[in-house]
Amino acid sequence: MTAASAASTAAPTLDALIQRRIRQDVQSMHAYAIQDSVGMVKLDAMENPHRLPADLQAALGKRLGALALNRYPDDRVNDLRRALATYANMPEGFDIMLGNGSDELISLLAMACDVNADPITGKKPVILAPLPGFVMYAMSATLQGLDFVGVPLTPDFELDETAMLAAIAQRQPAILYLAYPNNPTANLWNADSMARVIAAAGAVGSLVVLDEAYQPFSSRTYLDTIRAQPEQHTHVLLMRTMSKFGLAGVRIGYMVGPKALIAEVDKVRPPYNISVLNYECALFALEHREVFAAQALEIRAQRAMLLEALRQLPAVKVWNSDANMVLIRVPDAQKTFDGLKARGVLVKNVSKMHPLLAQCLRLTVGTAEENSRLLSALNEAL
Ligand SMILES: *Cc1c(COP(=O)(O)O)cnc(C)c1O
Repeated sequence: MTAASAASTAAPTLDALIQRRIRQDVQSMHAYAIQDSVGMVKLDAMENPHRLPADLQAALGKRLGALALNRYPDDRVNDLRRALATYANMPEGFDIMLGNGSDELISLLAMACDVNADPITGKKPVILAPLPGFVMYAMSATLQGLDFVGVPLTPDFELDETAMLAAIAQRQPAILYLAYPNNPTANLWNADSMARVIAAAGAVGSLVVLDEAYQPFSSRTYLDTIRAQPEQHTHVLLMRTMSKFGLAGVRIGYMVGPKALIAEVDKVRPPYNISVLNYECALFALEHREVFAAQALEIRAQRAMLLEALRQLPAVKVWNSDANMVLIRVPDAQKTFDGLKARGVLVKNVSKMHPLLAQCLRLTVGTAEENSRLLSALNEAL
């Protein structure tokens, strides 16, 4: 049973009078489903498979135990902001804000958007992103009463530049999201297409949010381009997270961008959104960044081996990856998913997410041992 269905069996019906107080669109939504993974090889959520070494676990435990949990988070959160700005080599004139995961930053961005319809066309403001993409972009838009427009990628998961430029010109979005690399397709966009799309969005006054959640595993970062051409990127925000880095349980996302823009978005942030435990864990991790860098290197090596092994399977189509996940197409995704699950391996069946993902599964890159269990289970399940 998923966490969501456990919750729904606990609260089967809502009093009819109370129900009237809940938004209609929320009532017809499904809660984000988290798959039950107890006892499984967990390759469904792009988590780093490595834990902290035992000596660091002990040192962190001591540090967390000594914190003043009776106090609200204090100025130490600014130590983390500075440490992350240095870690990311933040450009001149930029500022940084933190979120309880980048999921929170995505919600806060939608919250900061003007919701008034255009006085001439009567159309609601729009958040735009290519599809298939990260589900939070659409969800944050809907929950704030904004429209979401998804522009399909090409069948090989590149940006459809013509369609993107047309949608930007026609809808003049409040925000354009580009995940770089994208989830669940794991690829980077063509650099020239991306530059033209970002420029077109700037020309109609859109914000562009570049979501680099998978930066630890990526061969490129757009921050290099922003740093080289700052005057072309005054409408661009760049978002990262410590989740895929190895701290998915800690919940730290961050966003850098021009100072004045960050200052506006930061006004809608709940004042104590980063807990004492979150920031101390994140600071500890940055003090031991070489441990995480070694883990990322190992994951990239494992990704190369996994890609190579998958390419040997004639029934499997596999796409290249700049992230810690690999997208594959199999003859029957549900059957393969079930076969993997029966053999104790949990992956994500994304085949119903979007027509372009028909019969696709998303595999998170695990440890050497986990990947070999995945491969032998896949061979049997196909
Ligand atoms: C995982 C992911 C995130 C969310 O990360 P959190 O910081 O854990 O909330 C954001 N964007 C993309 C594209 C992701 O895949």
